[in-house]
Amino acid sequence: MLGIVYKSTGSWYIVKSEDGAFYDCRIKGKFRIKGIKSTNPIAVGDTVIFKLEKIGDEEVGIISEIKDRKNYIIRKSVNLSKQTHIIAANLDQAFLMVTLNNPVTYTSFIDRFLVTAEAYEIPVILLFNKMDVYNENEKNEFANLVKLYRNIGYACIELSAKTGENVSNVKELMKGKTSMFAGNSGVGKSTLVNAIEKGFHLKTAEISEQHLQGQHTTTFAEMYDLSFGAKIIDTPGIRGFGIVDMENDEIGDYFPELFALKGDCKFNNCLHLDEPKCAVKQALKDENIAWSRYRSYVQMVLGEDESYRLDIYKD
Ligand code: GDP
Ligand code: ZN
Repeated sequence: MLGIVYKSTGSWYIVKSEDGAFYDCRIKGKFRIKGIKSTNPIAVGDTVIFKLEKIGDEEVGIISEIKDRKNYIIRKSVNLSKQTHIIAANLDQAFLMVTLNNPVTYTSFIDRFLVTAEAYEIPVILLFNKMDVYNENEKNEFANLVKLYRNIGYACIELSAKTGENVSNVKELMKGKTSMFAGNSGVGKSTLVNAIEKGFHLKTAEISEQHLQGQHTTTFAEMYDLSFGAKIIDTPGIRGFGIVDMENDEIGDYFPELFALKGDCKFNNCLHLDEPKCAVKQALKDENIAWSRYRSYVQMVLGEDESYRLDIYKD
């Protein structure tokens, strides 16, 4: 039988088969996916093949195969010798919710998320929430942020989860797809999802990151069918994507507006830092690329090397 994994506890999986029924499934013996070293071979969202077997009095599904994943998101364990945990697979899209204040969402956070999503090949829709609370100045500031990301090509929705403004647009985009919601704690993810599907409560926000890191807990994502033909993957304790291992010369490829200029720099291996005749630095001067985006880029390329970074900004 063919099915999709809705829940995983590490050793047991709840799989929804094509006929719409849920089955308790497990894997027999060692089960390794080639190319990925992870603590869990099967993740929520995986499409699997299983057959029912009688074990004692019980009939359980035995998973024999995982279909190729279109994408997957991971979390690197801090304590467990950097083991990779696959959080979820086969996402159609991720909604990243941002707010101007209460809490502040930093552009560095947005950009890191977007870069990771580009690397994972997961489309992102930016949700600019709490439109009901901003004063005129804040509205302008927020509008500039929206413009910035729209210009790069990201879909943006300005909304208020509280008043319901534009909430139906989000719902519309979710239909027929598997989505996840990300964003800092307090931005309004739970409020929005509850406005979209009455009575549904995200667990995403409930477990603090600190709790996760302090203990050897592994939280598992879970998938839910919503009433209007949408699937949601709830990722307790996870506000964004885990960091993907990237080479320095690869990071620029995940900033679409920098990638577009690839080839215009004098050096084809230009990192857009202090190389001469750099098309990116020129675009910055011409204000065709936002400084906040460049800053995020440099931060990702140089990591913690603050002094060097500051030098580059001066130019
Ligand atoms: P989460 O941690 O991202 O799930 O955030 P919550 O949904 O729990 O929301 C955090 C707080 O922000 C709650 O007090 C919500 O009532 C409030 N909130 C959420 N969306 C809005 C909004 O659009 N406008 C206003 N004014 N408050 C909101
Ligand atoms: Zn360059």
